[in-house]
Amino acid sequence: MRTVKVYQEAWPLHTPFVISRGTRSEAVVVVVELEEDGVKGVGECTPYPRYGESDASVLAQITTVLAELERGMTRAGLQEALPPGAARNAIDSALWDLEARQKHTTISGLAAVELPEMITTAQTVTIAAPEQMAASAALLWEKGARLLKVKLDDRLITERMVAIRAAVPEAILIVDANESWRGDGLAARCQLLADLNVAMLEQPLPAGQDEALANFIHPLPVCADESCHTRSSLATLAGRYEMVNIKLDKTGGLTEALLLAKSAREQGFDVMLGCMLCTSRAIAAALPLAAKVRFADLDGPTWLAVDVEPGLNFVTGKLYP
Ligand SMILES: [Mg+2]
Repeated sequence: MRTVKVYQEAWPLHTPFVISRGTRSEAVVVVVELEEDGVKGVGECTPYPRYGESDASVLAQITTVLAELERGMTRAGLQEALPPGAARNAIDSALWDLEARQKHTTISGLAAVELPEMITTAQTVTIAAPEQMAASAALLWEKGARLLKVKLDDRLITERMVAIRAAVPEAILIVDANESWRGDGLAARCQLLADLNVAMLEQPLPAGQDEALANFIHPLPVCADESCHTRSSLATLAGRYEMVNIKLDKTGGLTEALLLAKSAREQGFDVMLGCMLCTSRAIAAALPLAAKVRFADLDGPTWLAVDVEPGLNFVTGKLYP
């Protein structure tokens, strides 16, 4: 017999998280708890308004499969029952966690993945005045972060990037514009980033309006985030992007994420692993992918005032799984 609990939680951040779409002060997550014969599995998702999701819509979606879930729905059955997105992720993650605990292993163990002792994670520099962003980058570097993800919007791109690069000359920089740029001037902006030795640019153009990426030879790899959800996204990305950012909240869980990573690599894309603002529960479910990706961007829990207990062991820029 399986029992199911579904609930919402709000986790305050210690610092506002500012990106091109706006500012967040808390992480709102939906949690699914499964229990079978005294063994518990837990999964978490972050509903994302950009993808038409709210905590209410995700809770409602989960409710549609609650009875089946109580009757023992499997991960395979779940893929058929719900579309990709946060709701399916919370359930998929809980099913992975439950099975792992039943077999006295971890989700990575169940996925037959050996994790390294330490995973380098990007630490995010959010949008602010150029000198503030440079100061944030310098502080993260001082604390040991070596991979920094810089959020940008459509303004002060040169000023912000030049200031940051001067503050952290040796850091690996990746840039995320979160769909805020347009096709006009895109090639010149990419060249500017390449000249500043930026390692990758994430989602400069709005999803669905990204054909301008096919018009020039990229001087640095361009990564699809909002344009890449599942394996079915890949067909439209060829010739536009060199990399894809896999997130469990987009794929609808680890089950599809593992298949997406495999297909993406087979089709010649490099792979990064990302997350939403979330607790360590959500990162634990994504860890099987973290071992082999080009960039792991898993700093969501480090923005929380307090993480879930027990949390993962994060030290600025590093995750010890
Ligand atoms: Mg992104």
